[in-house]
Amino acid sequence: MAGIRALVAGNWKMNGNRQMAATLTEDLLRRTRTGPELAADLLICPPFPYLIPTAQQLTGSRIALGAQDCHADASGAHTGDIAAAMLKDAGCSHVILGHSERRADHGEASGLVCAKAKVAHGAGLIAIVCVGETEADRDAGNTLKIVEKQIVESLPEGSTSSNLVVAYEPVWAIGTGKTPTAADVESVHRHIRKLLGGRLGGEGAKVRILYGGSVKPSNATELMAVPEVNGALVGGASLKADDFWAIAAACR
Ligand code: PEP
Repeated sequence: MAGIRALVAGNWKMNGNRQMAATLTEDLLRRTRTGPELAADLLICPPFPYLIPTAQQLTGSRIALGAQDCHADASGAHTGDIAAAMLKDAGCSHVILGHSERRADHGEASGLVCAKAKVAHGAGLIAIVCVGETEADRDAGNTLKIVEKQIVESLPEGSTSSNLVVAYEPVWAIGTGKTPTAADVESVHRHIRKLLGGRLGGEGAKVRILYGGSVKPSNATELMAVPEVNGALVGGASLKADDFWAIAAACR
């Protein structure tokens, strides 16, 4: 992770309730006050209804707040959707975009992810753009090709190391307990780093590239030590303060 401070982001997905969100947030805050200094920045991404109370809890803390999606338009007649500017207004600094669950459940293609990232940047948010191959892509030997296409098509003009984080999340590793080998993670992250350099010039060398997919305390030390891994996007394990904290503590 040389030179790039790690980011450990918790994607709570559609889990919990108001009480759980408050308790988990408070538990993490307590650790930031009393625990050893971490070598990683922390970000939590609760469901939409809990963003504002969580933002209030986090005020003055070093834990950042993010959302799990936004609309591609800045505002307007989109019933049930959320604008990037609303997320900013609610206290978010980050938004996860193009998560494989949104690509699968809502048919989101990279062009839409790119439009969302553009509007997120316009609102002053950092876009965490997710990419990753399916098991079939991997078995066919197409991992790098698929990830490259997603990167090329999902990143908007104007992306910089200040407004973009890339998360490599093999679809087959999300929520399954399966993870790629450290060597496989390294090869994909190195490829993403090369693509970012080609696309963003010097800025590309500074963009955080997170690994996501079944990260837990027992594999975090190995995964976080992989060259070009600059932190983690954590799903299931981010719902337990002990586990999320242990993953962050594994970053050096
Ligand atoms: C995710 O959904 O971004 C994720 C990585 O989930 P999990 O950690 O549960 O595999």
